[in-house]
Amino acid sequence: MKRRQDISYFHSPLPLNTMHFVISPSAGCFKAVSWRNRNITAPRSTEISSVSTSSFLSDFQSKCATPLPVLKQVADAMESDLRSGISTVAGASLPMLPSYVDSLPSGNETGIFYALDLGGTNFRVLRVLLRGKEKRVVDTEYDVVTIPQELMLGTTEELFDFIASRLALFVEKEGDRFQIPKGNIKREIGFTFSFPVRQTSIDSGILIKWTKGFKVSGTAGRDVVACLNEAMERRKLDMCVSALVNDTVSTIAGAHYWDNDVMIAVILGTGTNACYIEDISANPKLRHLNSTSEKTIINTEWGAFSSNLPLTVFDKDMDIASINPGEQIFEKTISGMYLGEIVRRVLLCMAETTELFGDSIPEKLTTPFSLKTPDLWTMQQDNSDELTVVESILEESLGVYNPSLHSKKVVVEVCNSIVTRGGRLAGAGIVGILQKLNEDSKGAVLKKRIVVAMDGGLYVKHPHYRIHIEDAVSELLGPEISNNVVIEHSKDGSGIGAALLAASNSKYN
Ligand code: ADP
Ligand code: MG
Repeated sequence: MKRRQDISYFHSPLPLNTMHFVISPSAGCFKAVSWRNRNITAPRSTEISSVSTSSFLSDFQSKCATPLPVLKQVADAMESDLRSGISTVAGASLPMLPSYVDSLPSGNETGIFYALDLGGTNFRVLRVLLRGKEKRVVDTEYDVVTIPQELMLGTTEELFDFIASRLALFVEKEGDRFQIPKGNIKREIGFTFSFPVRQTSIDSGILIKWTKGFKVSGTAGRDVVACLNEAMERRKLDMCVSALVNDTVSTIAGAHYWDNDVMIAVILGTGTNACYIEDISANPKLRHLNSTSEKTIINTEWGAFSSNLPLTVFDKDMDIASINPGEQIFEKTISGMYLGEIVRRVLLCMAETTELFGDSIPEKLTTPFSLKTPDLWTMQQDNSDELTVVESILEESLGVYNPSLHSKKVVVEVCNSIVTRGGRLAGAGIVGILQKLNEDSKGAVLKKRIVVAMDGGLYVKHPHYRIHIEDAVSELLGPEISNNVVIEHSKDGSGIGAALLAASNSKYN
């Protein structure tokens, strides 16, 4: 346990006008970090001990608030960045990557197809039996495999050999309904690979870099489909990848299969991303794509968005301390990997500069990422009079013992502020995409039903976050237009979507 470092306006060794424990007009928060880094210590004053928790809280809340004018600026900036990304080849803030998916599954697909989803600590294998327009998805079987930590830090061959071996085990267990017809036909795979990839065709793409805890040597700069194919050949596994997509693209494909009004897909999980259906003819950057449908799916990589966001000093410090400073700012403000960490940073600053947790700073509170985003939801749900659930999370995750009831209420308020901001900004991002589609269609898109397919652990498991998304969308669009916008969870959409994309891009048609 460290002692809380008290700061007094009167006993600071710095003159008042250069003190760093002030409410910063730009960031609007207490810059406790500054004095710590400068080794400025100040004895605790008995006259004025520290800023009150309540004034810290209200200042913090005003800095990360998302009233309608702020949401509007974010939605407009998103629309503008989507436009510049799609019309500029280089230098735009949003990558806007063409997916090479030029025809979405029609419903006529038949046969047996596989999907492989690699994008986090688990990978999922799935097979589906498709029976055309009337019968649709007749049967599915799947398996989830945890990737051992050492393979996330190993070599390309080790990782892909592991995936191929588990895929082979899954193929061996094919049920009676899943027998591939005899003949010279390979089992086809839709490969959902949710890491940054520069795609060169529907069935190939070069890994730009690993993210999300993966650091596998020798893969960056290589075609990940070739890596998988080579591993399958080593195992004599006779399968082939017919479609390589990221998780937003497989989600839109899976959701569109059931509902033709789906135009946008958004993932809110560890990270965040969105894609939408775009007209090829309207965009010079896309003319090289040979699409029969004149449509394609654009992977926005919207996690890279950064304009007009109501950021606090805590967001900025977290970014500076991250492995990718200056990058993925929208992702760092709204997605599951970061919300808990922002709250921890706020609480640490409050503990250092106010009476929040008494006189000492627990070590765990100073440990990055010790508070997880699911902890926020657990605390927000606590209905007990004494907030006993909040207390146990504070104890287990942050090493804070015996907090007062008032302090526990303050903690919940901080969680609410960060979750509310995240959900409302995600909603503003969705409105940015809707505005673009509506403008391009000269107002037609928002006159009728349009569906946004959603997925990802944060969206699925945090009900308040979902409500904040919907609130922001209806505030921005107004009650009448927002009635046409359906935001709904696409259950299992990603896995089935990838299998459907393998079917619609089959090598045997
Ligand atoms: P991935 O994005 O890695 O594919 P998921 O879509 O399953 O994985 O999302 C996992 C993320 O969802 C976790 O990082 C976590 O932040 C968030 N999450 C999971 N459960 C909850 C919860 N109960 N409340 C809030 N966030 C959650
Ligand atoms: Mg995922």
